[in-house]
Amino acid sequence: MPPHPESWLRVTPQGLFCEPGDFFIDPQRPVDRAVVTHGHADHARPGHAAVLATPATLAIMRARMGEAGAGTVQQAIRAGETLVQNGVAIRLVPAGHVLGSAQVVLDWQGARAVISGDYKRQRDTTCAPFEPVPCDVFVTEATFALPVFRHPPPEEEVAKLLKSLALFPERTHVVGCYALGKCQRLIRLLREAGWDAPIHLHGALARLCALYEELGVPLGPLAPATVANKAALQGAIVLAPPSAVQERWARRLAEPVVAVASGWMRVRQRARTRGVGLPLVISDHADWDDLNRTIDEVGAPEVWVTHGRDDALVHAMALRGIRGRALHLVGLGEEEEDAPVAAAEQGA
Ligand SMILES: [Zn+2]
Ligand SMILES: [Zn+2]
Repeated sequence: MPPHPESWLRVTPQGLFCEPGDFFIDPQRPVDRAVVTHGHADHARPGHAAVLATPATLAIMRARMGEAGAGTVQQAIRAGETLVQNGVAIRLVPAGHVLGSAQVVLDWQGARAVISGDYKRQRDTTCAPFEPVPCDVFVTEATFALPVFRHPPPEEEVAKLLKSLALFPERTHVVGCYALGKCQRLIRLLREAGWDAPIHLHGALARLCALYEELGVPLGPLAPATVANKAALQGAIVLAPPSAVQERWARRLAEPVVAVASGWMRVRQRARTRGVGLPLVISDHADWDDLNRTIDEVGAPEVWVTHGRDDALVHAMALRGIRGRALHLVGLGEEEEDAPVAAAEQGA
């Protein structure tokens, strides 16, 4: 009988460890061998000796933490390629989360585990779509694993932003969005909706936008958001990190309309306490329906939940005869959209 993944994939303080392969997946502390699912800071930590990831994830890691921080030895494997490490076959399959994001498919002695990292099923033209892979154990996130979280089509949310611009053509529309993934996806959605004017960027977003373009994701005309020139930004769209939209920086804009693009904007009270007049429910994580649909599609009899609202998901799976297990991995969900409480609103 093939060995149950429980016997060869262990939870350690650093994260998930594949014992026969001698490597960690998304380790939280520096290790000898890491497989990294994607470039968000809670998954891609600096200081590993060897890093295995997709070419785009490695490029993102280099851009965010420098050549040295991204791993002394960096090994790229492309989607679909298989690499064998101490008898464990490793394959990276698109996760649809951000550019370069991948699920880690591990085969050992006839058993298969799929570690999906963060993922979504909604359309996103900035990255390859999620591919379900049948497996014995599926490892999933649960960021939005409550029935209240149902993400609307992102096109509808972008239409709200454009409608507000038409209503208030003299006001600057500042949209809080995460630097990796959300920002570029939002730009592409705006282009598809016909917004071809320059989109202004807070300095913290410029670097990853340039990298996306280098990696083949065209974003159209972009310009720096220089708040000193208030008049030039009247009626413009300014993208900034979510924390910056509440700061003095944003208040210097011309009568700003404040928007934030996040799955958390489903919770109206959260938008209100953050002073967000225009909440846009756009998420790079699977919502309740897509989490459950994905679990059914991969057909695993057992599902491990890394972080997020694991109790609701484990309960929903039990009703369908799927064995759920909460891993309570520490460190995940502390960055980017995973974090229900952004640094700027802590204590609020
Ligand atoms: Zn992520
Ligand atoms: Zn994450």
